[in-house]
Amino acid sequence: MPSESKTCVRVAVTLPVEETYLYLVPRDLETRAQVGCRVEVPFGKRKVTGYILEHAANAEDKDLKEINQVLDPEPLFHRSLVPFFHWMSEYYLYPLGRLIQSALPGGLNVHAYRAARLTAKGEEALKFLAGRSEERKLLTWVRDHPGKKALSPLDHLVAFEKKGWLILEHRMTKRRGGPLIKRFVKAGEGSSLKDLAESDAKSLKAKNEMAFLEAVFSSQGILSEELSSRFTNGAYLLRKWLKRGILETYQASVLRDPAGNVFLPSPPPKELYPQQREVLGVLEKQLARGTFSAFLLHGVTGSGKTEVYYQAVRYAMELGRQAILLVPEIALAIYMEGILRSRLGDRLAVYHSGLSEGERYDQWMKMARGEVPLVIGARSALFAPFPNLGLVIVDEEHDPAYKQEEGARYQARDAAVVRGKQANAVVLLGSGTPSIQSYYNASRERYALLRMPERIESRPLPEVQVIDMKDFSSEGKEEEILSPALRDALDAAMASGKQTILFLNRRGFHRVHLCRSCGKPVRCPNCEVSLIYHLRENRLACHYCGFHCQPQTLCPVCGREGLRSYGFGTERLEADLKQIYPQLRAARMDRDSIRRKGHTFELLRKFSRREIDVLVGTQMVTKGYDFPDVTLVGVIGADFSLGFPDFRAAERTFQILSQVAGRAGRGEDTGHVIIQTFYPEHYAVTAARDHDYPTFFQKEIELREQLGYPPFSYLACLRLQGNQKQKTEDMARKMAEVMMEVIVSWPKRGKDLRVLGPVEAPLSKLKGKYRWQIFIKSKGPNLLHAFLKRVGENLKRILRGSGVSLTVDIDPYQML
Ligand code: ADP
Ligand code: ZN
Repeated sequence: MPSESKTCVRVAVTLPVEETYLYLVPRDLETRAQVGCRVEVPFGKRKVTGYILEHAANAEDKDLKEINQVLDPEPLFHRSLVPFFHWMSEYYLYPLGRLIQSALPGGLNVHAYRAARLTAKGEEALKFLAGRSEERKLLTWVRDHPGKKALSPLDHLVAFEKKGWLILEHRMTKRRGGPLIKRFVKAGEGSSLKDLAESDAKSLKAKNEMAFLEAVFSSQGILSEELSSRFTNGAYLLRKWLKRGILETYQASVLRDPAGNVFLPSPPPKELYPQQREVLGVLEKQLARGTFSAFLLHGVTGSGKTEVYYQAVRYAMELGRQAILLVPEIALAIYMEGILRSRLGDRLAVYHSGLSEGERYDQWMKMARGEVPLVIGARSALFAPFPNLGLVIVDEEHDPAYKQEEGARYQARDAAVVRGKQANAVVLLGSGTPSIQSYYNASRERYALLRMPERIESRPLPEVQVIDMKDFSSEGKEEEILSPALRDALDAAMASGKQTILFLNRRGFHRVHLCRSCGKPVRCPNCEVSLIYHLRENRLACHYCGFHCQPQTLCPVCGREGLRSYGFGTERLEADLKQIYPQLRAARMDRDSIRRKGHTFELLRKFSRREIDVLVGTQMVTKGYDFPDVTLVGVIGADFSLGFPDFRAAERTFQILSQVAGRAGRGEDTGHVIIQTFYPEHYAVTAARDHDYPTFFQKEIELREQLGYPPFSYLACLRLQGNQKQKTEDMARKMAEVMMEVIVSWPKRGKDLRVLGPVEAPLSKLKGKYRWQIFIKSKGPNLLHAFLKRVGENLKRILRGSGVSLTVDIDPYQML
C-alpha cells in the first residue's frame, strides 16, 4: 500500500530533543489518532511516548515509521494549546515533548492494550495442537486469561486471529480514584432564621438547636458530616429540618485533605463598591470585545479584588468562554475555591499539586471535555486545556512562586500574558504590591493600569511603626526577639481579645552553631551552608538538602568544646512566646509545621475560628487570607532578605512587608503593625511603612536603570553543576571564553550583550554538587535567544562527557 494514502501526524516525543517528528497512522488507528492524544512511537531502537500536535502531509514522501499505539481514548488537550506549548518550549529552552509531559496531569495511567478472546474454532484447535508446542502454550494462556493484556510481541496472536482461533480486542485500563463527593447543607430557598424564630419559638429555645441552625444559616454551605460531629444530635437535627424543608442538601466535590475541610464560603456582597464597579466595567467591555488585552490591577490589600475576579469570571462564562484563575500557592487555591464554589457550584475545576494524581487527572479531563468553564490553581493550571479561553487572572502576580524552579523554568505570570494573547483573551494581573516588572510594563502602556486604592468600607490602612533593633542588641547577650514596643502591643491585643500574626522569615530554633574557639559554623557536608538547630527533633538540619544529625558538642573543625548556638527562627519565637505568655494559645505555620498533609488547613481553620491567639510563621502567613480579628501584626526580622545578593532583594522585602502589614485590621478594628529591623532607613522599609508604592517603585526603577538590571535588560543564568570541584570550574571558564569569542565576532550586536562571570555560585555547593554560574545580560529578549542559539551547540560539545551538567534559566529568579 503506498504510504501517501495514509494519514500522517506530527509528534513531539518525550525526549530531550528539539525537533518534532512525522509518523504514519495505521488504518485501524486513524479515528483514534487525534490531536492531543498520547501515542507510542518507535524511535531508533526504542519505543517512546509522544503527543500528536497536528495532522500533516507527508510532503517529502519520506519513508516514515508508523505509530504503534494511541494511548488515550480521548484527547488530553485542544489543538489551540499547541502554539502555546511551542512558545513555552522555545522561550524557556525546554524540549517540547518534555514540556507537554510536565504540563499534563501525572495520573495518566489509562492505557490502551490488546486483549485476546478464544473463539469456538480456537477451542477446537486446542484439541489438535501438539502437547507441548509453543502454539499450544500460548493458546492455552489466552483461553485461561480472557480479556487480560496480551503479552507482546503480538505476532503469534495476530497469526492466530487470521486462522480464526481468537479475536483481538482494543481495551483501556480502568483508572482508580475519582473526585470525592460530599454532602453539604444550606438554608432552603426562602427560609430565614428570623421567621423561624418567630414561628417556631418553642423548638428554638434549645441552645444547641439554635447554634446548629445559626451555623447553617450563616454559611453558604456546610459539610453535613461537620454538622453531625460539631453538634449534639447533629444528625437528628439535620433530618428534622430537612424534612420540614427549612434546610436543603446538595452534593459537591471536595478536596481530599485529611481535615476534610473546604473553607467556609463567604456570601456574595449585595452590591459592588464604586471602585469595583469601575474596574469591572472596563474588564467587561474588553471581554465583550473578544480581543486580547492585558491589565494590571493595583488594588491594595482588602480593596475587594476577589469579588472583581469572581464577577469577571462570571461574565466570561456568560459569553461562553473559559477562565483560568492562578494563585501562587495551594492554600490560596483552596481558599479561593471555597469562595467560588459556593457561588458556581460544580462548574469549576481545581488543579494543583495538593491533589492526588487521580484527582488531577479527573480535574484535567473535566476541562478537556469542556465540562467546566473555570479552573483555579497554581502555576500549572496555566496549561488548562480549554478550547475557548476568554480570561486569565493572575492573583498576587508579584509572587515569586510563579517562577517554576525545576524542569521547564517558566514564569507563569509572564507566560499567562502570552497564552492570553494567543487565545484572544483578557489577562488580568492583580496585586497590592505589583512586581517592578509588571508595573514598569504598565507605565510603558504594555498593560493597562487599573486601580483600587481604597480598602472596602474605607477601613484605614494599618498604622505601621518601625523599631530600630540596633537599640536592643547587645554583645554576648542572648538575642532579644521581641522589642518592648511589640510586647506592649501584644499585651494590649490579648487584653482586648484580638488576634496577632508574628512573621519571621526563618525556620528552626537556633540559626547556627558557631564554635567559640575557631569561629566556624557547623556546616552541611553536602552544601556550603550552616546547619540549623531544631528543638522538637533535637537535631541539626540542612534547609537545602534535608541532611540532619545529632547536635554536636565538639567543633568538627578545630575539635575543641566550644560550640554555641546563635540567632533564632520561628521555632524559638514560638517557644519564647509560650514561655513569656503561658496562657497564650500560640501556633506555628512554616514548612516544618505543615509537613503533615492537611495541617495548614487545620491551622488556618482554627485561626479563623479564633481557637488560636497568635500565629507565628514564615512567608506562608503573608498570603492573602482574610482574618477580620487580626489587629496586630509583628514583623520580627524585616531585613533578612535585604542582605541577599539578588537584584530583587529590595522588591521582595517591600512586598513581604506590605503583604504582612495588609493582614492587620481587615475587620472592624484598625490594625497595628510593628516592624523590627536593623535598617530602619532603607527605602523598602520606609515605603512599606508609609503604604507608598509609587515612591518605592520610583526609587527601585531608577536603581535598576542605573545598574542595567531587568526590566532594562534580559537575563539568562547558565548554571553548572558537577561532582568535581575543579572540573566544574574549568568547564565554567571554558564556556565563558567561548561565549566571549562569539560576542567579539558580532561587532554590531555584541555590544548589547554582556557575559557576567563565571563565578562560583553564592551557594557554592548544594546537595553534594559544586556550582558555578554565568549570567548573560542582553538589551533585548530576541538578541538573548539568538545568542543562546548560536552558542548552544558549542556549549553542548564542551560539556560532553565532562560529568558537568548545564541548566539554562531564562529570566532567572534564583541568584544563589
Ligand atoms: P483583596 O483580595 O483585594 O485583598 P478581598 O477581595 O479579600 O480583598 O476583600 C476584602 C473583604 O471585603 C472580604 O471580606 C470581602 O468579602 C469583602 N468585600 C469585597 N467586596 C465587597 C462588597 N462589594 N461589599 C461588601 N463586602 C465586600
Ligand atoms: Zn545540605
